[in-house]
Amino acid sequence: MRNKFVCLLFAASFSMVSMAQDGDTTGTTPNAPARTITMYKMTDQIYMFKGKGGNIGIQIGEDGVLMIDSQFAEAIPEIVQLVQTLSDKPIQFLVNTHHHGDHTGGNKNMIFKGTIVYSHDNVRRRLVNQALLEESKEDNANFEKQMEKLREDGNREIAESKAKARVEEQAKLRPKETAFPLITFSDNITFHYNGETIMVFHVHNAHTDGDALVYFTESNILHTGDVFFNGKYPFIDTKSGGNYEGYIKALGQVLGMIDDETKIIPGHGLIATKADVDFTHRMMKALLDRVSFQYVSGKSREEVMAMKNLSEEYDAKGFGAGFIATERFIGLIYDHAKKKYGKLDRKK
Ligand SMILES: [Zn+2]
Repeated sequence: MRNKFVCLLFAASFSMVSMAQDGDTTGTTPNAPARTITMYKMTDQIYMFKGKGGNIGIQIGEDGVLMIDSQFAEAIPEIVQLVQTLSDKPIQFLVNTHHHGDHTGGNKNMIFKGTIVYSHDNVRRRLVNQALLEESKEDNANFEKQMEKLREDGNREIAESKAKARVEEQAKLRPKETAFPLITFSDNITFHYNGETIMVFHVHNAHTDGDALVYFTESNILHTGDVFFNGKYPFIDTKSGGNYEGYIKALGQVLGMIDDETKIIPGHGLIATKADVDFTHRMMKALLDRVSFQYVSGKSREEVMAMKNLSEEYDAKGFGAGFIATERFIGLIYDHAKKKYGKLDRKK
């Protein structure tokens, strides 16, 4: 559980860094709070809000407002204010594309405003676990101290049985916090809202194990969440069920559902087209193949990370200039190859 929490912090810090690099914070007058969100109009009904966290999708219309992802809690007042310039209807629904803190940080504030949050089952599960971990932090630290003392005093058996009882006790705990996605889905869900059919698809084990893609069928606009980072090497959260091959498969699914006219809201980066997704899909396949080949050929992690030619055509386009730098990305793919082909290597 600790890993999951670290992961969230990691994801949060990631978006901070990418924000600093994007440099799209626009100040207003000296007395007004600095604006952090840039609004992109995609159609009369659909907008992208780009700020410190993951990109937000907004759909407005006669029925109300639907929002995709909630960035960070501190951005909610500005987000709500911007929505109010577009519509006088309430933000009725919020769909989370996955659990990372830079996409769900504003959930609680939205729930308190009466918004109903939808997510994949695993997103809710991870958010609940994270809240439990936070709430029991102090308790856990005190318990650890007690255990240490027992062990020091030679009462190792008592410590072990207490630790076992503690695990059972904690399995029954429910967080005090209640602001979680109210409705969850295991596969797909469809909204019929503002005159549009909005299909939400779950893709298995890609960026995480709870990823959802949101497709506005009439407007031909797709929000990919972090299943697609536009123009940068992606972060794949293997500690939360993400998987390199699953990621490639998910990008293939994205390509299968869109055409050249589709406008894409990526998890991070600017509005994209099918050609951008196709490029990333081919990049991922090529790098996985190349790094796996080097691994199976017996090259060490350091040797492969130093091979600039493996990724030069992508680095030239700035893919390594995001939070996941080239060497790190190659190293992570090497770790994936090692996991996958480890047995093959040992036979040599
Ligand atoms: Zn993410």
